[in-house]
Amino acid sequence: MSAEQKSPGNPSDEISPFLLDCHVDTVLKLVDYGRDFVRGIPDGQVDLPRLREAGVGVLFFACWVELAYLPDRCFARVNELIDGAEALAAAHRDKVGLARSMQEARDIQASGRLAIVLGVEGGHAIENDLGKLRHLADRGVRYMTLTWNNHLSWAESCQKPTESSPKGLTDFGRKVVSTMAERGMVADLAHVSPRTFDDVLEMDVPPPIDSHAAARSLCDHPRNLSDSQIESLAARGGALGLTLVPGFLSEKSETADLDLAVTHALHILSVGGTGVLGIGSDYDGIDRAPLGLEDCSKLGKLATRIREDGELTHEEFIGFTHENLMRVFEAWES
Ligand SMILES: [Zn+2]
Repeated sequence: MSAEQKSPGNPSDEISPFLLDCHVDTVLKLVDYGRDFVRGIPDGQVDLPRLREAGVGVLFFACWVELAYLPDRCFARVNELIDGAEALAAAHRDKVGLARSMQEARDIQASGRLAIVLGVEGGHAIENDLGKLRHLADRGVRYMTLTWNNHLSWAESCQKPTESSPKGLTDFGRKVVSTMAERGMVADLAHVSPRTFDDVLEMDVPPPIDSHAAARSLCDHPRNLSDSQIESLAARGGALGLTLVPGFLSEKSETADLDLAVTHALHILSVGGTGVLGIGSDYDGIDRAPLGLEDCSKLGKLATRIREDGELTHEEFIGFTHENLMRVFEAWES
């Protein structure tokens, strides 16, 4: 579906809603392997032709910093990934635009191009330096996961606590989050511990997101959100990108499929309501995708199933496809 396309057979002739995916790792393929995003990446899960097929209008490039760059090459690495996204947009201005705000993303999408927005995965990217955090915000980074799967001196991740790991968010961690709020960069709670999650929810900042997770009551994985976490995120006005990582959908990851992804979505809708759910696939961050959701071209099929099985109204469906997440980003921008 493209934004210009009318829904066939729809009596109200509504404009089809575009999809937003708030977490893919594709930028690493561009920077490290020189893949051609515009013509196609046959050995990847995301590229422009297949995004168009699915009706994706806004895509967040997660700039993930591998732990091999610790301790002092993380910031350089994340800047290298941002350079890669900028180079892509510069080389294909007619097809792709790099958005620094949600209004820019809406304008780029409305012009028939793909809007790419930057996120950072792993707070170690800032090397404990608020100046480096501000630099990333100035370059257009619109969210940062406070941690990846590693504890930081200032934030506890979802991994088992160690003797030296903090119990949630430290005072410096609170400074990181309030600096993010000053700069309009959304706090992303994917990968953090329940204590860090609660600490951020209690701060006087706009509501956070979890860019990529599923429901823990359906699959007991530490990266997933419990029902009470989904409830409190929704009550705070935040949003959650449903991830398609097979091991987060099912403890028997080889059985993960489209039906199971829909089951997680319906569960999140039933626990958190229709204002919390979005998409954060983690395509190109996973070796194997669920059956029936092999690559990003299948996202349209997923959205249709969630609309039908969840009996969503048109407005609720637009919330799911992009508006729930965009609402949170706009709250941090204002
Ligand atoms: Zn991740």
